[in-house]
Parts: sequence; C-alpha cells; structure tokens
Amino acid sequence: GYGDVEAVRIADGRDAFVAACDAALTLSRTNGWLAAVDARLAGESWDLTQCAMSNLIDEAVQRSSHVYPVVSPIGADGDRPQSYDVMVVGAGFAGAIMAERLARDAGKRVLVVDKRPHVAGNAYDRLDDAGILIHQYGPHIFHTNSADIFEYLSQFTEWRGYEHRVLAAVGDRLVPMPINRTTVNSLYHLDLRTEEEAAAFLASRAEPVDIVRTSEDVVISAVGRELYETFFQGYTRKQWGMDPSELDKSVTSRVPTRTNTDDRYFTDTYQAMPRDGFTHMFERMLDH
Ligand SMILES: Cc1cc2nc3c(=O)[nH]c(=O)nc-3n(C[C@H](O)[C@H](O)[C@H](O)COP(=O)(O)OP(=O)(O)OC[C@H]3O[C@@H](n4cnc5c(N)ncnc54)[C@H](O)[C@@H]3O)c2cc1C
Repeated sequence: GYGDVEAVRIADGRDAFVAACDAALTLSRTNGWLAAVDARLAGESWDLTQCAMSNLIDEAVQRSSHVYPVVSPIGADGDRPQSYDVMVVGAGFAGAIMAERLARDAGKRVLVVDKRPHVAGNAYDRLDDAGILIHQYGPHIFHTNSADIFEYLSQFTEWRGYEHRVLAAVGDRLVPMPINRTTVNSLYHLDLRTEEEAAAFLASRAEPVDIVRTSEDVVISAVGRELYETFFQGYTRKQWGMDPSELDKSVTSRVPTRTNTDDRYFTDTYQAMPRDGFTHMFERMLDH
C-alpha cells in the first residue's frame, strides 16, 4: 500500500510525527523514492479515497442494521393480524404502491417491511430541528408524463406546483443548467437567436468520438471539451466521487443539451411536489 513507499511515514502521536518529519528530511533526493511516490499519487485522488472510505462506512452501518417492520396500516401495532397473505420488502415507491394495490384492489393482508425505520424509501423527507422539511437522501422533485401515475398519486396528496430551475455559477456568471441557448450566449458573449444557430455553434465545438462508451464521451461528442470541463467534470467528481470517464454513458445521457431557451430542469407534463411532503403521501398510501 501507500504506507510501504519509502518516503511515507505513518505517525500515531505528536512525538512520532516530529520524528517522522525529521526522518523524511534526511531522505536523499536522488535514490528513486520520488518516482515511486509520483507513480503512486498519479493513480490516486482524494475523491477516490473519500469514495472508498464512504463505501467502507456504508458497509459497516449495513452490517449492524436491522429490519424494522413497517406495518400497514401504519401504527396499528395493537391489532396486527397474526398472518399475512403477502410480505413486501421495501417501502419505497415500488413496494408501497405494490402493497397498496394488493391490499385495496385484491383484498390481501400485506406486511410491508423495510430495513430503514421509515417509509418512502429514498424519497423520504422529514422536518429537521428548525422545522424545515428536508429530503434526507437528496432532493426529490416529482415529474412524470403519465396522467395515470399523476392521477393515482393524487389520491394520497395535494400538490404544490413546482418546476425546478438550476443556475450554475461559472466565474462571475449564473447560467442555466442544463446547457441551453441562454447558457451558450452568456458564456461565449454571443447573440444566437434561433435553435439552428445554437445547434450549429454546439456542433462546431463538439469533438468526434468514434465509439461513445463513457459519460465523458457523451458530453464531449455533443458539446466539446470546454463545456464538458465547465459543467460536468468537476461536478461529477465532487458529487459522485468519480471522473465521468469512469461512468457509463447513461449517467450524463440523462442531462440534455438544449438549443432553445427552456431553462426548466425537467420538461415533463406533470411536475409538482407533494404539498405535505413525500413521507406524508406514502403514509396515506399505506394507511388502508
Ligand atoms: C439523490 C437522489 C435524487 C433523486 N431525485 C429524484 C427526483 O428528483 N425525482 C424522481 O422522480 N426520482 C428521483 N430519484 C430516484 C428515486 O429515489 C427512485 O426512483 C425511487 O426512490 C425508487 O423507488 P424504489 O421503491 O424502487 O426504491 P427505494 O426508494 O430505494 O426503496 C427501496 C426500499 O427498500 C428497502 N430495502 C432494500 N433492501 C432491503 C432489504 N433487504 N430488507 C428490507 N428493506 C430493504 C430500502 O431501505 C428502501 O427503503 C432520486 C434518487 C436519489 C438517490
């Protein structure tokens, strides 16, 4: 490992640290250890280390977690049936909807279990200490083109109309993300007026990639290296701890590049937030 490289000292206290520094200062500059360190560092980054540490922590937490029964109807601890027709594992969108359909439409007795102590899966939200509704596992914005899905969920929640818009800070400018014509005009001090002009400009920046395999390939072949580095590379490394060249093409394929001036993050017909939160919507779904 890294600790085996000659120049690396690992110290576990103040005195050991001082001794390690002294020893490091006596190292010759010529006996080859520097090349070994450079080679080692070239293959490492803080992002990768952080990602590996985070995975280890997740695995440790996972090993000590329990299955908490979440029973429908919620909170009916006292009069739980003694037996069930179906057990659904996972109280996220998939499990909770399956349970609701089986119970309400097919009259089954359903037990929903989840290893986490709450319903709603990754869409779980809760009030924090300041009374603010937060999304514990990352922000969730409901969007769909399906009238059926929207109508179905509307049985369990009122909605607050919401269209997500994102501005990215580039230098001293705030520009729309996903990239659209406004973004391009602002960054390159242009006045592109039509979709055709914007498409031609992006095509002039794009770099041909023979076979599109990675997330880096997708973006570079569509908008070129400069926009890739400005909007995707750093963000992806920070957010996911990986370089886009290590990610499958499907990851950045989800983010469109637009030649119009639509600055909404999603373009679906139905975009909204459950008025009282996702968790409340799930609780109502499971309360039958
Ligand atoms: C950061 C982030 C942002 C997102 N943003 C959006 C968004 O804006 N809009 C959108 O529509 N979607 C978004 N998504 C996707 C959305 O979270 C998922 O599509 C949705 O939650 C999938 O539901 P699911 O039921 O399949 O899985 P999950 O929500 O993951 O639910 C699965 C449940 O099963 C439980 N479980 C798993 N294994 C076991 C086991 N062995 N025993 C017991 N329980 C188990 C888990 O604890 C979990 O509660 C986002 C996802 C993330 C991570």
